[in-house]
Amino acid sequence: MAFGIYIHIPYCLSKCRYCDFHSSGGNGQVPDTYIQAVLHHLKEQNFPQPDTLYFGGGTPSLLTPQQLACIIDTAQPVCGAEITLEANPETLSLPLLQGFRMAGANRLSLGIQTALDDSLKTLGRPHTTAQSRAAFRMAQQAGFSNISGDIMLALPNYTTEEFDQTLSLMVEEGACHISAYLLKIEPGTPFFQNPPANLPDEDAAADFYLYAVEKLALAGYQQYEISNFSKAGYESRHNLLYWNCEDYLGIGPGAHSCIKGIRYAFPRDTHGFIAGTAPFSVTGECTWQDYFMLQLRLNTGLHLPLLQQNYGITLSPAQIQFIQQCQKHDLLHFDGQTIQLTPQGMLVQNSILVQLLS
Ligand code: SF4
Repeated sequence: MAFGIYIHIPYCLSKCRYCDFHSSGGNGQVPDTYIQAVLHHLKEQNFPQPDTLYFGGGTPSLLTPQQLACIIDTAQPVCGAEITLEANPETLSLPLLQGFRMAGANRLSLGIQTALDDSLKTLGRPHTTAQSRAAFRMAQQAGFSNISGDIMLALPNYTTEEFDQTLSLMVEEGACHISAYLLKIEPGTPFFQNPPANLPDEDAAADFYLYAVEKLALAGYQQYEISNFSKAGYESRHNLLYWNCEDYLGIGPGAHSCIKGIRYAFPRDTHGFIAGTAPFSVTGECTWQDYFMLQLRLNTGLHLPLLQQNYGITLSPAQIQFIQQCQKHDLLHFDGQTIQLTPQGMLVQNSILVQLLS
């Protein structure tokens, strides 16, 4: 069984208008007191050597190479571990990327979002398309050969041309992996208070998603999860660990863990995390319903004999009948043992789950 560690870096240069992640804007660096708190929690936990280490945020590229090296050294990943750093183009330079590579990072996940500067401004992203392209090139120069890019779909005024331009940027700059997310307007964000004009409606957003899945496949990026696409062999090992219900430890405010079927979390409180007053507490158990839902996110799907073997659950005749109905509507494939959602099924995954898990 693989084991992974997630380190949350809750600092950003500025806050994007759509963002509800736990992070604060107005930061050009990560305070050493925060690093000390991360190291303290890492040392306190008794865990195996991780197979994957993932620095997410926030903006982990605000770390210095020294801070990154210190955390990696303390986590003691296995030889050959996947070590991912999320990075935003506006924070990068060649020496910084060389430092990250020297510190041990071997996978970069760049926050690209779109290839249109006007859309980047609407989102409140502080980078430009030129900086996105420069980020890929500097990363390759620094020795990174495994580079992913995050992009967003169904932005205000979105068109298939905007997607095509964004995909071209990724292809031309050599992305091995692409995460493509539909823009969601989350409560508590500036976009929620003042929704941007010309947002695609639900049907239009679904069409953009299906268009993206098709175009990504034609460009050689195979879908392996609802929002994730990669060249062969470049799937995110760390994220697969979440979807396959393997053990992981999350360190930082708002970070979640799942160890031997028990879920834990730190509260979304950065000051408390640094001060040691925000406890790492049990939040529940990983249930068969969690496994069911997470496996259906993957193209490999849910294997019913494994559900029975791991959780003792067998689907009822009524549930099987519902699955067969979904198959007739091209929402999934079912060979009697494995349920695999189609891209159309992934769009309505929640409704399918409500029927199957109720
Ligand atoms: S850079 Fe990422 S984490 Fe930071 S505000 Fe923007 S979307 Fe949120």
